[in-house]
Amino acid sequence: MLYVVGVGICKEHLTKRAIELIKNADLIYGSKRALKLAEDYISCEKRLIKYCIEEYSRIEKESIDKNVVVLSTGDPMVSGLGSKINGIVEPGISSVQLALAKLGIDLCDVAVVDAHAKKAENLEELLKLRHLLILADKNFDVSVFGDKEIYLIENLCMRNENIIFGKAVDLDVKSDYTIVFVRR
Ligand code: SAH
Repeated sequence: MLYVVGVGICKEHLTKRAIELIKNADLIYGSKRALKLAEDYISCEKRLIKYCIEEYSRIEKESIDKNVVVLSTGDPMVSGLGSKINGIVEPGISSVQLALAKLGIDLCDVAVVDAHAKKAENLEELLKLRHLLILADKNFDVSVFGDKEIYLIENLCMRNENIIFGKAVDLDVKSDYTIVFVRR
């Protein structure tokens, strides 16, 4: 069996279901951060995952005669491995949910945009319809929002968690763990 398991953003986010799947695994893959979040429950072999199609199909084959768990930070269906690996997805708490909780904004009122390691497009058009919640890394340039006041939500659940509010032109994304919120 192959499971893609969300581990949340903080250690305390691990659900009972995720813990059970992790405990029952014969082999666990994940990023350094995902493996760290789940470390208390891992007793089998663990491996760092490579982010390429060849790795994903190799893991799918490996799971034919083993219980394999692929860990995904946050939720596997939020710019995660859930749509890339053919396994049973176990949801986790996403950085998107944490950011919305901090902002007091409903998920149904935002457009979620992935600008993590990729270029985000049509931001202006989207902003006409919804607030924007952008998964950003250091390469994301917020100055495209000019004089608009925006939020940078950085390093959720980490020691240096920080929320910054200000004019976009005056701000810089400094962490690869940043969510940018722009009001419609
Ligand atoms: N599956 C993950 C998202 C992976 S994409 C989830 O559900 O949260 C990586 C992006 O998620 C980062 O570029 C950042 O925008 C966001 N992110 C992940 N962890 C974060 C954290 N601790 N604080 C703020 N943003 C975070």
